[in-house]
Amino acid sequence: MRVATLAHEIDFDGWRVAARALRLEGVEPAQASFRVGGSAEQGGLFDQAETLAPGTRASPAGPIEQNFTVSKTFVDLAQQVILHRSADRFDLMYRLLWRLRDEPDLMKVTSDIDVVDALDRAKNVSRASHKMKAFVRFREIEDADGPNAIAWFEPAHRVLEKTAPFFVRRFQNMRWSILTPDGSCSWDLKTLTFGPPATADQAPQEDEVEEFWKTYYASTFNPARLKTKTMQGEMPKRYWKNLPEAALIPEMIAAAKGRSETMVATPASAPNPRTERIVAQFDRETGPQDRLPVDLNELAAGVQGCRRCPLWRDATQGVCGQGPRNARLMIVGEQPGDQEDLAGKPFVGPAGRVLDDALIEAGIERSDVYVTNAVKHFKHEPQGKRRLHKTPNAGEVTACRWWLTSERDLIRPRAVLMLGATASLAVLDRKVAVTRERGQALALDDGSAGLITVHPSYLLRLPDPVLRAQQREAFVADLRRVRTLL
Ligand code: SF4
Repeated sequence: MRVATLAHEIDFDGWRVAARALRLEGVEPAQASFRVGGSAEQGGLFDQAETLAPGTRASPAGPIEQNFTVSKTFVDLAQQVILHRSADRFDLMYRLLWRLRDEPDLMKVTSDIDVVDALDRAKNVSRASHKMKAFVRFREIEDADGPNAIAWFEPAHRVLEKTAPFFVRRFQNMRWSILTPDGSCSWDLKTLTFGPPATADQAPQEDEVEEFWKTYYASTFNPARLKTKTMQGEMPKRYWKNLPEAALIPEMIAAAKGRSETMVATPASAPNPRTERIVAQFDRETGPQDRLPVDLNELAAGVQGCRRCPLWRDATQGVCGQGPRNARLMIVGEQPGDQEDLAGKPFVGPAGRVLDDALIEAGIERSDVYVTNAVKHFKHEPQGKRRLHKTPNAGEVTACRWWLTSERDLIRPRAVLMLGATASLAVLDRKVAVTRERGQALALDDGSAGLITVHPSYLLRLPDPVLRAQQREAFVADLRRVRTLL
């Protein structure tokens, strides 16, 4: 028996060198074995034989191949299979490698027992990677360098290295670490590094956003759509212990039947007659809008020509939102101010600077955010040479909701942050008491998450510096909360 010793559990390069040498030497699969955990002191790659370099023979005896190649399909599959936790995965891969010389099309025979086995294991590895992307939950701590998010996760297979780049792409702007029993990885905003295995007690057990996240999860749960088996298939119980929201699931399942019966028995609420009247009036005056704009350019042109309410008359121009087309976060303010009206851009005045500073502190890039207003034209009244801001009324907000809805439809953000009562009215189509409802996660009609906070101009108006500092802290905390919804 020839035993090849590999450096670690996912040592693909080590396996490839050893398997190639064994194959060239003509060692049959039944006579080859692989084990993990070798070191130089133990004699290198092979026990009971000299170390082989690719293309050299191990001993004078035995049939020697000159060379052989394998398809990329096999190499790709083997790289997946090696991440599987089964102890015999190296043997399976070597068996396939052995057979490939006489059966070059073997990988296309999807009924072959070894091929099926390898494909199944690769599929399980891929599923484990997918579950890791879905079920890693970071908990934030403060260390000497600021906020640091740490997650504990137990992947079904050894997919940490394979999956870590996904988290780099997704959470580029925060420091984080993922700890697993197989190893750990950390991102420091520049470099991804891998480290030794960890234990669950090395990760924080909870953080301040935990309750908030649970509230959001509960608010998105629709009992009428509950399919317990499907849910458990998508979210297997083995992951529940690391998911803060999982503690709510048994209770929500138990209450689902009663809640859905109540939902069915409750008659649909009638549309707000005042809103209906206002919209009908604008449609009579301007003709009904029968389709949403197809892109942001058409939307911008539509806003400039909009006559759905009288605000266009006294404004310099309509001010549309600004930000990337695929932004995950949309921030909705009230209306353009004096400077925004002149510049044609949202949040460029004093309130915009407060917002920019708070976003930086919360770890959110303004350039990643789509920033807009509930009402697109500046409502004001003259006082001498100045133009004093006037709050848009419900009718104007309702009329302009057409454009905000169009923006949400085109951008499709994961979360919408509402700054103040006007923005909340526009997004939620109901009156909101900001101080009572701020900071709570809400499920919006399009499936995105919503969160209400104050408008930054409120912070500018606070005369007491202590109160202003406290309120600014609370504002930054709301921004951090909304980041967790992304
Ligand atoms: Fe149209 Fe909105 Fe401007 Fe009113 S404020 S005219 S609804 S774009």
